[in-house]
Amino acid sequence: MDLLNTLVDKGLRRELPTREEALAVLATSDDDLLDVVAAAGKVRRQWFGRRVKLNYLVNLKSGLCPEDCSYCSQRLGSTAEILKYTWLKPDEASQAAAAGVAGGAKRVCLVASGRGPTDRDVDRVSKTIETIKERNEGVEVCACLGLLSDGQAERLREAGADAYNHNLNTSEGTYGGITTTHTYADRVDTVRKAHAAGLSACSGLIAGMGESDEDLVDVVFALRELDPDSVPVNFLIPFEGTPLAKEWNLTPQRALRILAMVRFVCPDVEVRLAGGREVHLRTLQPLALHLVNSIFLGDYLTSEGQAGKADLEMIADAGFEVEGADTATLPAHRADAASGGCGSHGGGGCAPCGDSAGETGETGEQAAGTSAARPDLVAVRRRGAGTGLAPNA
Ligand code: SF4
Repeated sequence: MDLLNTLVDKGLRRELPTREEALAVLATSDDDLLDVVAAAGKVRRQWFGRRVKLNYLVNLKSGLCPEDCSYCSQRLGSTAEILKYTWLKPDEASQAAAAGVAGGAKRVCLVASGRGPTDRDVDRVSKTIETIKERNEGVEVCACLGLLSDGQAERLREAGADAYNHNLNTSEGTYGGITTTHTYADRVDTVRKAHAAGLSACSGLIAGMGESDEDLVDVVFALRELDPDSVPVNFLIPFEGTPLAKEWNLTPQRALRILAMVRFVCPDVEVRLAGGREVHLRTLQPLALHLVNSIFLGDYLTSEGQAGKADLEMIADAGFEVEGADTATLPAHRADAASGGCGSHGGGGCAPCGDSAGETGETGEQAAGTSAARPDLVAVRRRGAGTGLAPNA
């Protein structure tokens, strides 16, 4: 297929595809799926070999958020029966983080619900970062605390944070339909603040919220402009009790096409398969490893993932290897640039990597290319941080 040959050539040269080419990837048929995966896989291997970076989520503060992000089980008015708890103590957070590191994670992502941190919250998280860094040599720490005020990114950096996550989530054009309590511009501003403070910017998206192909291409091109070092791709987890609970819009094949498009647009960036992989890719998860170079190990913020051991077995069975702590994730040309991504730096708010909601789900007989609702695959987290049970790692 000429399209795929062109995209591979561009990806190997780190050249941006056109919008039309990105849209064409999303429009390919299921008959062409393996060709699409193979083509994007060549780009992935060029920049990241067969390495898979493991990341581990620690939900520092769960639920009771005043914001209204429609995809989020922690939002204002959510009736999802998630764990709700206030800030973990540094020692509690460190124990959860240690489980992830022992399971092979090289990055720990510290996430808290809320619009953004107070200065007291930044103090609290700073102590947690210092504790985790003292006890886990070489671990990378990413904070995800929502919208940042002036000076907060610098304080997190001084405390030892390596990165800051704030996702754009969806296109600027559709943002107001997903969240009304803050704006797309607020999110971009926080990603820029993180980058300006010398933190590695992490910003991604959530697919499956009812957006069009054009919206998906818009948000991925916007991310490329912001140039984060890592781009988490979440697939909406339609939690009962959230406005998007009926949004079952993704098939495994569509999820793979979206990941391939992101890889072509962001060839040399850490593309991370985030929340919703078990729910939407299901048995096709191993194929996604040919597209992404990073995943979360174990559970998500408010939902349970597959067993960490199953993640490790999947990586080995598919012929990939877990990236070691002494190996740089990014290609040398990006690592040298302090932080990178697919384009420049901007950002989204806390988009709890892995917890979302959805819209209309059809059940029963499905037309080709449409998705059956699978609420049976959405498991609310009942172990790890905030519980007395051991974390999944
Ligand atoms: S994504 Fe973050 S800001 Fe939005 S509702 Fe969820 S926890 Fe609150």
